[in-house]
Amino acid sequence: QPVLGILGGGQLARMLALAAAPLGVKVLVVDTAADACAGQVAPLRIADWTDFAALEKFAADVDVVTFDFENVPADTAHWLAERAAVFPNPRALAVAQDRLAEKTLFRECGLQTPAFEPVDTREGLDRALATIGAPSILKTRRLGYDGKGQFRIKQLSDADAAWNALGANAHGLILEAFVPFERELSVLAVRTRDGDFRIWPLTQNWHTEGVLSLSLAPAPDVGALQSRAEALARTLAERLDYVGVFALELFVKDGQLLGNEMAPRVHNSGHWTIEGAVTSQFENHVRAVLGLPLGDTSARGFSAMFNWIGELPDATPVLSTVDGHWHDYGKQSRPGRKVGHATVCAQDANVLAERVGDIARALKREEQAAPGIGALSG
Ligand code: ATP
Ligand code: MG
Ligand code: MG
Repeated sequence: QPVLGILGGGQLARMLALAAAPLGVKVLVVDTAADACAGQVAPLRIADWTDFAALEKFAADVDVVTFDFENVPADTAHWLAERAAVFPNPRALAVAQDRLAEKTLFRECGLQTPAFEPVDTREGLDRALATIGAPSILKTRRLGYDGKGQFRIKQLSDADAAWNALGANAHGLILEAFVPFERELSVLAVRTRDGDFRIWPLTQNWHTEGVLSLSLAPAPDVGALQSRAEALARTLAERLDYVGVFALELFVKDGQLLGNEMAPRVHNSGHWTIEGAVTSQFENHVRAVLGLPLGDTSARGFSAMFNWIGELPDATPVLSTVDGHWHDYGKQSRPGRKVGHATVCAQDANVLAERVGDIARALKREEQAAPGIGALSG
């Protein structure tokens, strides 16, 4: 029985483990936290990501290593790659960990991005602002997630406040033009060790305070953007010799795609694929990294995913909806934390809009759900 090692024990590791079980794949998870939510699969506890004594045992016990946590230090990924097969490869991981390297690669692959400039000093911020202007967003190059490590510069006089907030960051910063986008899409893609490549239908996403709150799939009215996104994701995957699932977050501006960032792992905007696609992102990731054939990435119908942030709402409205599915990650409530999600599916877009609307009203989430409902029925 092959053993899949997963670095990081959050909800992504848990959903990977759930998908691995019927494939006859055993999972071994490592994490630095005692309360990692993939707890059902008994994570191996390590002190930190350079705890090579504990990782030595992990590496000896697994056949293939993959990631739930994308910020594993590059040195640790390289060290593991000398002892086990690591997918995605450490170079792909390193590019995705650095917003500057990532956006530079996007452009090399023909994917436009918001205007950006690296920023390392206070004077450098002024120089970058002279080029990019305002509104813009100052971001840490590394380790940001859920909108953390970002400062929105509304006018040039915000420069001091932005520098005070982020200037101490040791890994450098990037200033990006603020894009007044029409909508946000993501493409979930998967590539095997043999180069077989597939994407799921594009997903449309809405964020609240920098955190994903709602996804709809297939994204309505994408037209030629589907094949454009597929070509770009394929080029990127081939350049990185990428193996496994990744997500590419995109802005649509004037009908054109701009690359925001990539996630070198399964992604929150692909959770709908568990119930809404023929093969889920989790199953195809496990298949890809273990050298198994991929499953079909077609949608079964229409799906919407609500993210539960901070604390779980009452499950009853979702559980009493036809084709409604509940996912409790078993985490402690904490402001801003992703503690669960729900997916609702339907064969018809209007039926899905009704189901989403009913749940949103019951949970008083109408504001967040409203744009999604509009997109569905329009
Ligand atoms: P994630 O949790 O997706 O990893 P993150 O912390 O890495 O998030 P981003 O994806 O860079 O952050 O930004 C979060 C959200 O903020 C984006 O999905 C988008 O809604 C908004 N945003 C980020 N950059 C820009 C930009 N240049 N212009 C307009 N909106 C932006
Ligand atoms: Mg990110
Ligand atoms: Mg993002």
